Amino acid sequence: MEDAKSPYFTAAHRAFRQKVRGFIEKNVLPFAEGWETEGRMPRRLWEEMGREGFLGLNHDAEFGGGSPDFFYSVVYLEELGRAGYAGFRGAFSVHSYMALEYLKAAGSDFLKRKYLAPAIEGRMIAALALTERESGSDMASIATEALAHGAEYRINGSKIFVTNGLLSDFIVTAVRTPGTGPGKGGKSSISLFVVDSDSPGIEMREMRKMGWHCSDTAEIHFQDVRVPRENRIGNLNAGFFTIMKSLQVERLAAALVSLGGVDACLELTRKHLAARALFGKTLDGFQAIRHRMADLYSQAEAARQLLYHTAWLYERKETPFLECSMSKLRITELANQVADECLQFHGGHGYLADNPMSRIYRDTRLATIVGGTSEVMRELIAEMTLGQPRLNPASP
Ligand SMILES: Cc1cc2nc3c(=O)[nH]c(=O)nc-3n(C[C@H](O)[C@H](O)[C@H](O)COP(=O)(O)OP(=O)(O)OC[C@H]3O[C@@H](n4cnc5c(N)ncnc54)[C@H](O)[C@@H]3O)c2cc1C
Repeated sequence: MEDAKSPYFTAAHRAFRQKVRGFIEKNVLPFAEGWETEGRMPRRLWEEMGREGFLGLNHDAEFGGGSPDFFYSVVYLEELGRAGYAGFRGAFSVHSYMALEYLKAAGSDFLKRKYLAPAIEGRMIAALALTERESGSDMASIATEALAHGAEYRINGSKIFVTNGLLSDFIVTAVRTPGTGPGKGGKSSISLFVVDSDSPGIEMREMRKMGWHCSDTAEIHFQDVRVPRENRIGNLNAGFFTIMKSLQVERLAAALVSLGGVDACLELTRKHLAARALFGKTLDGFQAIRHRMADLYSQAEAARQLLYHTAWLYERKETPFLECSMSKLRITELANQVADECLQFHGGHGYLADNPMSRIYRDTRLATIVGGTSEVMRELIAEMTLGQPRLNPASP
């Protein structure tokens, strides 16, 4: 549906959409293939986007951010997705809607001034390190440890899959702070810290990937990395609950960039179908293809309305746990289906490495895995609708 017909968007939102789109057309699309080859984007892109006011839309004006409502973020995230490069949309959504969300949610004034404000300006790049090789979806079993030593903590352990890791200036890191809380392990002894990326004892290695090529992904080792106590985000051992809350906006952001990605894929395919002629007519004249495209457009529209409704709940300061999981599940599963069917409509040309369709296909595949897999989303949705699984009364 066009913005103009939607109850969620005003003329000001539409003008902002043109601004973001114009920026991307001028400053991203002409260079993106080069960044895909280099495996990273230039720091100046964060600075440019910071100057435009894009990096702090969901943050407080006091720290240099702000926008009149969450639908500016909706527009921005959709447009990041419409650029058609998931590495680009991944890097920038991790920066503003994932790593910085933790500072917003629980960071002290000191941390907000030292890290959040310059990251909103684009002078600092943020990364988020939750995932570990042995934990993955089972966040509560992370093993990277921070032990108190006088006025500081010392961190030991490893993280993987850290988006923006190599480019980052700081890493919001989830660690275990054992022996200090009511519980000895699990959810009750996880804390969050801001770690400077150039701290002595940090080693990083690039992780090569199937897609998302313009975004750097790092494995990070921490060996006796010293972090001042004031770099702790929020209360000791309260990290897991901050993560669960912040993951909701992370999932909504992931869903919105995926929605933009679906739009980009459908548009690329619409143009291809209009241009490719076989058997005396263009492909968009074949009923078999027309009906499948009609299904994809309809499903995309249904998902879009769920996402906008979720964004509306979020704007009303509710934390729509159920709808965030549903949104992430629905649109990312659909994105895979759209990418698969659209590649089919491109025939062998879509399979060629330099065809944008093949990049979209590779890039899209990650969306049902990153930021909470589809299986985890289904578990959460089942828990919120059916309740906890009950024991079989017939079992001993
Ligand atoms: C390119 C890239 C960028 C990323 N960026 C970041 C980042 O910036 N920061 C960060 O912290 N992480 C990041 N991640 C990590 C990402 O969030 C994890 O990959 C994801 O959470 C899944 O964890 P895992 O890969 O260890 O899979 P696993 O947890 O090992 O899951 C393997 C399979 O088991 C299934 N499974 C797991 N538990 C259940 C269950 N209870 N019931 C049924 N099935 C289950 C999963 O759904 C999946 O299909 C990134 C990953 C990639 C590849």
